[in-house]
Amino acid sequence: MSRNTELLIVGGGPAGLSAAIAAGELGAKVLLVDDNAQLGGQLIKQTHRFFGSSAREAGIRGITLADEMRKRVSKNKENVKVLYETSVVGFYGEGEAGILSSETFERVGYERVVVCTGAVENSLNFENNDLPGIYGAGAVQTLMNVHGIRPGKRVLMIGSGNIGLIVSYQLLQAGVEVAAVVEASPSIGGYLVHASKIRRMGVPINTSHTILRAIGKNEVEGAVLCRLDDKYQPVPNTESEIRCDCICLAVGLSPLIDLFQQGKCRMVFVSELGGLVPIHDTNMQTTNKRIFVAGDASGIEEATTAILGGQIAGAKAVESLKGPSAESQKIINDATTELKNLRSGTTGEKIRWGRERLVKEIEIC
Ligand SMILES: Cc1cc2nc3c(=O)[nH]c(=O)nc-3n(C[C@H](O)[C@H](O)[C@H](O)COP(=O)(O)OP(=O)(O)OC[C@H]3O[C@@H](n4cnc5c(N)ncnc54)[C@H](O)[C@@H]3O)c2cc1C
Repeated sequence: MSRNTELLIVGGGPAGLSAAIAAGELGAKVLLVDDNAQLGGQLIKQTHRFFGSSAREAGIRGITLADEMRKRVSKNKENVKVLYETSVVGFYGEGEAGILSSETFERVGYERVVVCTGAVENSLNFENNDLPGIYGAGAVQTLMNVHGIRPGKRVLMIGSGNIGLIVSYQLLQAGVEVAAVVEASPSIGGYLVHASKIRRMGVPINTSHTILRAIGKNEVEGAVLCRLDDKYQPVPNTESEIRCDCICLAVGLSPLIDLFQQGKCRMVFVSELGGLVPIHDTNMQTTNKRIFVAGDASGIEEATTAILGGQIAGAKAVESLKGPSAESQKIINDATTELKNLRSGTTGEKIRWGRERLVKEIEIC
């Protein structure tokens, strides 16, 4: 079987949804493909009120944001077709992708593609890290917030970035005890407002600590922690045991990049952006001129920046097919200005460094 589209969008999280909305409204024929049963990506498990730009999504819950974006996509059925529970499994030659649903494999011919595959969770090396009861934070959120299942009775959270802090709070809201949050750095990684909330609820945050091993034979029964020195080495005789039946790892995300490698996009490792990312310009175009990128796949950030990046990628992909229009220029200029504002100030410093590094790589290309 095969089909054709002007613009293929891989991934229906905030980046892919906003790319589809922008491109569809600019008149392109769009095929949006997501491997889940509903669109929204990470947003469908985010029950908390969003942090981020106060002019935009801050204060809105992720699930509500996903609903609003889904409605905008379904309003434009004429231009935007959605395939659910379908994965883009490969790029074959120029302008051809393979898509796989439960029973069917199809080839899709496309003029341009925007890859918005998001990120994968990082794991952590420690003894017994394959025991049942050890989860990534995304899996814990999916269990609790999508399926209504508590992952355990007493959870040990590893990582005090915003994800570790927010998921800890959601666990407490679900009636699960959080034994402690353990953080290898000497300071808390996420926003202090989130940290204060869980501390007020009695959860200790142990900075300069790590997990050495999980205790248990068939499932998690506890963990051994230890203190770290300023070189992140275990301090002898500081080991302590903590009781828990679930260990949740919130130790960062890495961009999901397989498709860019298949598409022969040039890649670069930028630690500030979460690892290997496709080299791309401010128009979100990669070194393969047919392939655009947006969202966490272009560097780990937030949903608001994913939405803005998706708007730019969607509009630029359409411009590269049909030429610029007043409407496309407005979308791109507005989103670019807003992205610049969001990344200004001290909280955006790390991302700015990462993005500057990308600009240098583009100059070399
Ligand atoms: C616990 C947690 C809390 C967060 N809180 C906030 C917050 O308060 N504010 C904020 O701004 N951001 C927050 N974020 C970050 C935000 O959720 C992400 O930055 C954002 O979702 C990234 O959007 P995306 O579209 O790039 O990727 P995702 O949302 O990950 O969407 C990618 C989609 O692509 C699909 N996909 C991947 N590969 C394929 C393929 N080959 N074929 C088909 N489909 C595919 C995935 O299944 C997924 O549906 C949080 C993240 C987490 C984990």
